[in-house]
Amino acid sequence: MERRKVTFKLYPNARQAERLTCWVRLHCELYNAALQERIEAYRKCGKSISYYDQQNVLPEIKAARPELVELGSHALQQTLRRLDLAFAAFFRRVKAGQTPGFPRFKSSARFSGFCYPDPAGWKLMQCGKRGGTLRLGSGKDAMSIRLRGQHRFGSEAKPNDLTITRKNGEWFASVTLRVQETACARERSDAQHRGIDFGISDWATFDNGKAIANPRWVREELPKLATLQRERARKRKGSLRYKRISWQAARLHERIANLRREFVHQETTKLVQTCAVIATEELAPKNMSRSARGTVEAPGRRVRQKAGLNREILSAAFGMAHQMLSYKAAEAGTRLHLANTRQLKPSQRCAKCWATVPKTLAQRVHVCPHCGHTAPRDQNSASVVLIDAHTPGTGVAARPKPLPTVRSRKSKSMTRETPATTTQGV
Ligand SMILES: [Zn+2]
Repeated sequence: MERRKVTFKLYPNARQAERLTCWVRLHCELYNAALQERIEAYRKCGKSISYYDQQNVLPEIKAARPELVELGSHALQQTLRRLDLAFAAFFRRVKAGQTPGFPRFKSSARFSGFCYPDPAGWKLMQCGKRGGTLRLGSGKDAMSIRLRGQHRFGSEAKPNDLTITRKNGEWFASVTLRVQETACARERSDAQHRGIDFGISDWATFDNGKAIANPRWVREELPKLATLQRERARKRKGSLRYKRISWQAARLHERIANLRREFVHQETTKLVQTCAVIATEELAPKNMSRSARGTVEAPGRRVRQKAGLNREILSAAFGMAHQMLSYKAAEAGTRLHLANTRQLKPSQRCAKCWATVPKTLAQRVHVCPHCGHTAPRDQNSASVVLIDAHTPGTGVAARPKPLPTVRSRKSKSMTRETPATTTQGV
């Protein structure tokens, strides 16, 4: 049995939305009350209260507050467990010598939602081709909320747990399904071997020279976000205009995240469907962040800030691509090879003779001084990781032989690129 998480957007009607909001508020109240209890017990008598102490008084609380009953006892327990996890994480970090923040009281507007830890108290029903309904609660008080989308695992899939979240005023249901391995399997139409270099100027470059250009959201939505944030910086903090722009920025952030997820899903699916072997570098966030400098479109003001923002959002897409590739590759029977960046240095290594050829980030073409091999920088490093996939680890003997290094030409006359010249080039 495999586990797969599927998220659906919910379309509650006005009354249902109001009721969901009310439920979130009640969960939030419980969370805050439990936190308060823990703090006071410790302050007044130095006693620490465990999850089970709090769980055991839930029936009494429900007797005093009958409106909690319809939330379901397991869902209430789950909220207490969430607090317990927050404390566990806090103490773990204290022990590790870090300086964590103490678990906080939350406002119900910021409380993300609630969770049913087992398939009781709710039911996911798929009907037609495009959607279904989610039934929450039981008896005549149950809510049937419309939802969009369907999962691809068929009727065999068994629901395991459900999380209801609210984000920018919209509601979502994440369902974890227990699925047979066969239901996860993906079909593969081709058996190519591909090396991939994920980058900033092109989203991905392959060892055969083909590339996937940066998607539309990088060109169109990211600059909008930067503009909004700049506008917000001119408003008085906490004012109505400040809040309005914050709201717009939050919506745009969400839109970018959705577009990004969609794009990465589509491209990674295509990759695992056509490849038997996929090779790429293991994820190194620090490497990514340096190369953002060369791609910021807007020259002039606040280049650094924009670079930081773009960098953060783009490198999230690389992390996502790696994560999706790993589970999709397993589903399609594709071998995914992650090369060790530190040892291999794909961007510095010559794919023909295996010598290391130091380059600055601005040098977009690999020209080997030893064997004369010339290729675009990203393509060369994609080839290098592919060779590494075929002869990993101890298979160094099968790789091209490194030539003895000539120590005269390089490093002394290397010119460092200033930000001004890099932004012009792109
Ligand atoms: Zn070479």
